[in-house]
Amino acid sequence: EKLKDGLTKTRKDMTDKIDSILKSYAKIDDELFDELEEVLVTADVGVNTTMKLIDRLKDRVREEKTTNPDEIKDLLKEEIKEIMKEPGVGNEIVLDPSPAVILVVGVNGVGKTTTIGKLSHNLKKQGKKVLIAAGDTFRAAAIEQLEEWSNRAGVDFIAHSEGADPAAVIYDGIQAAKARKCDVLICDTAGRLHNKSNLMNELNKIFRVVEREYGEATKEILLVLDATTGQNGINQAKVFKEVAKITGVALTKLDGTAKGGVVIALQSELGLPVKLIGVGEGIEDLQEFKVDDFVDAIFS
Ligand code: GDP
Repeated sequence: EKLKDGLTKTRKDMTDKIDSILKSYAKIDDELFDELEEVLVTADVGVNTTMKLIDRLKDRVREEKTTNPDEIKDLLKEEIKEIMKEPGVGNEIVLDPSPAVILVVGVNGVGKTTTIGKLSHNLKKQGKKVLIAAGDTFRAAAIEQLEEWSNRAGVDFIAHSEGADPAAVIYDGIQAAKARKCDVLICDTAGRLHNKSNLMNELNKIFRVVEREYGEATKEILLVLDATTGQNGINQAKVFKEVAKITGVALTKLDGTAKGGVVIALQSELGLPVKLIGVGEGIEDLQEFKVDDFVDAIFS
């Protein structure tokens, strides 16, 4: 229900438009497909993905000899699900080995702190022992806000003072997580994208520390993106993909936007699975992403 509410704007913008297009046609023709294409591109589904979807729709219509425009909606829904479930794209956060490491990266303001807090809360509810490490040492306020969220979630917190070496914080986090037998260590990192080489150096130093302790074992590197920024978010994803082996995306503020189509573009154009979605500001407002639920909520 929360998901359906959160996606109201996307549903209204995208699905209501699709409905009215389909209603205005008596038969299926190229013009109808052109209009559909425009709606999908406007909803930030991405140009390549939109083309792929339209091609598949045309194939389905031909194969199944569909003549009624009303039936297009269900076909589109099925094809979107299909496209998003292509092999190699898993939408689940990997919590293995123990303590599992989740590095959280992203530009300031996208909702990184909030997402770490909500995720800690969710994991704790699942019975996991969580430790948060404050790897963004650039601003004292960032450390304090993260600590507040750790208190709210009732999980452990580790930080150094402002200006400390982020890699040292993460190193301490790993040692503490092991000593305290935590299940999950969630690491915040700095998000000053305007200085790309600095960001890259800082992140690489953190990655090396984690690599040393974990070797080949799986690490989640979650990129937090703000859904309300649409194409801007897509561009941030491209930059971070160059800097880090991003394993998944936490897409925030889906509740405030009609740009939910971004989920489809991230996954199908950039190969970045969306793993978590933020649908509000509260501690309960972070959900695991599930393709079927998402597509059903948009098209309901
Ligand atoms: P950070 O700078 O990336 O750490 O961003 P914050 O976590 O401080 O979040 C920035 C703002 O976005 C805050 O006002 C949050 O309440 C808000 N925010 C974060 N996630 C969501 C979400 O899923 N939905 C809504 N509506 N607001 C969110």
